[in-house]
Amino acid sequence: MRKSCIKVLKREGEPIRRALLEMNLLDNSCRICSEEEFLYLPLIEEPQEEILQELPGELEFTEYDFEEQEGQLKFEDLLDEVPHFEVIGDIALIEDGTYEPMKVADAIMQVKKNVKTVLAALGPVEGEFRTRRFRTVAGEDRTSTIHREYGCRYYIDLERAYFTPRLATERSRILAQVKEGQTVVDMFAGVGPYSIMIAKKSPEIQVIAIDKNPDAVEFLRRNIGLNSTVNVMAIEGDANLEAEKFASMADHVIMNLPHNAHEFLDAAMKLCASNAIIHYYGITQEGDLFASSLKLIMEAAERAGRKTDVFDTRIVRSYAPHQFNVCIEVRVYS
Ligand code: SAM
Repeated sequence: MRKSCIKVLKREGEPIRRALLEMNLLDNSCRICSEEEFLYLPLIEEPQEEILQELPGELEFTEYDFEEQEGQLKFEDLLDEVPHFEVIGDIALIEDGTYEPMKVADAIMQVKKNVKTVLAALGPVEGEFRTRRFRTVAGEDRTSTIHREYGCRYYIDLERAYFTPRLATERSRILAQVKEGQTVVDMFAGVGPYSIMIAKKSPEIQVIAIDKNPDAVEFLRRNIGLNSTVNVMAIEGDANLEAEKFASMADHVIMNLPHNAHEFLDAAMKLCASNAIIHYYGITQEGDLFASSLKLIMEAAERAGRKTDVFDTRIVRSYAPHQFNVCIEVRVYS
């Protein structure tokens, strides 16, 4: 069966396979093929250009003749089209506007045997704690689950704290930059996906994980236990105030509060040891992806009397039409 696919070097295939799986783009009804030094990963649908850019490593979007996996139930057997959904632990999330949600939820539970609950979001992620309301469409009536990502486990209640699996690849990119002996301050840690993954890399890395949402910190503490990462210090509080206690201690400062991170730049500068890197996330417009945010960062550096170099600027993912979730990385000197 001829299908769209991603062609990638075998040695670079696993992170891409995982990323496609997380994005529900990998077509499990076909066998992944290998030929010479390449892997061919079958796709459910053609990914958007921005999604291709998100994938790690060198890859090519092409077509290939795949063999079907025998006996595997497919969405095409049950529905007219493959539904859009995201899986967190054993919960599948569909959008509230989904056409015939019960039918879609039923199909998801039949095709994805690990899914026990299908939830529909009742609105956008909102408020200071970036949470969301859901209604149960099918399966067990709950919003909590345990999600696995890159060898870590996270307990999450999706209505009480923020979490998205879509940043898994981005988190692993930051992880690669953190070295033994370094201290990381995760200013908006949520249930801990950056903090715990980084702490798990080495007991010689210290992580200070701050969040203002008491529920998120409750789950963060539980996740520290689940992953045995005693080198994470969980702090419930406002990042601007808590930063005062850790002045000049950080080699990395993670600022994953994309709509409001600019309000915390003075605190981030204060946290930085010499040569520290600030990983700043923002939501920006197509015509001004980095410039305005860079200006705010430079102004904060000037107020703090710090020198900076721009280390990297990148689009992490598309957020809304003409809007992007971006990451700006700046090295801060004394
Ligand atoms: N880093 C986590 C992740 O990737 O899942 C969570 C990111 S979420 C977009 C932002 C987090 O910032 C939320 O958990 C929210 O509760 C927290 N937050 C909002 N305002 C805060 C503040 N003033 N101080 C500390 N945390 C705050």
